[in-house]
Amino acid sequence: MAKPRNEIAVKRLFTNVYICMRCNAKVRSGKRDGIKCRKCNSKNMRLKNKDVKG
Ligand SMILES: [Zn+2]
Repeated sequence: MAKPRNEIAVKRLFTNVYICMRCNAKVRSGKRDGIKCRKCNSKNMRLKNKDVKG
């Protein structure tokens, strides 16, 4: 049985969550541009989203 609600929950959890590629810190931000890691100030951020599968 498909559970579309689960998909929404996952989206909520992982949307706007970014991972620093330098120190793997998790940063939540609504913006897509100019996100900086608050630990190392790196701008190398990737979406947490991509981490879910695989
Ligand atoms: Zn960092």
